[in-house]
Amino acid sequence: MLSKYRSMVSKSYGWNVALTCGHCKASVMPRYEGRSLHMATGAGDATVFAKLACPACGQRLIDEPVRKLAGLYTEVPLSAQNHRIIKQFIAGLVIVPAAFAFVLFMGLQMGWWRNNAFGLLVLSAAMIPLLVMLKNYRIAMLRSVCVCGKPAYRFLGIVQGTCCYCCSSCGQLLRLQE
Ligand SMILES: [Zn+2]
Ligand SMILES: [Zn+2]
Repeated sequence: MLSKYRSMVSKSYGWNVALTCGHCKASVMPRYEGRSLHMATGAGDATVFAKLACPACGQRLIDEPVRKLAGLYTEVPLSAQNHRIIKQFIAGLVIVPAAFAFVLFMGLQMGWWRNNAFGLLVLSAAMIPLLVMLKNYRIAMLRSVCVCGKPAYRFLGIVQGTCCYCCSSCGQLLRLQE
């Protein structure tokens, strides 16, 4: 079950958006040369993880994808479902520990747990990673569907703190607050 969760929430890194090469001015689909360890940050608060090169002149493309990403995604709205998931996650982070604290307090008053109070605290702490997993899973569900029916979202990078995806099947842009 954990491996299913991992494969569900893992991102497919890649690049599937055409760029204009700054050296030879060719408008091309850049050559993807893997995931870069260095994050290229720049214009519009964008981060790109792909190592890209121009197939026409062979130059490494560094500024172009960052500018492209910022230009493409800054105006893409977050979906209502995405907003809802984040809101519910934040509410859960407040409500779950508060509920546990309340039950713990009541239990101490009523003498429900003799030596089990510590166990309840541990259980309460374990709820937080579960909430995070649930949130990540629900957000991953949002990119497991696409209007084209053949979802193949590639993770391109981050713009203003949100993750940017593009469907390889149809070019649909998707921006997610994770
Ligand atoms: Zn070029
Ligand atoms: Zn699609």
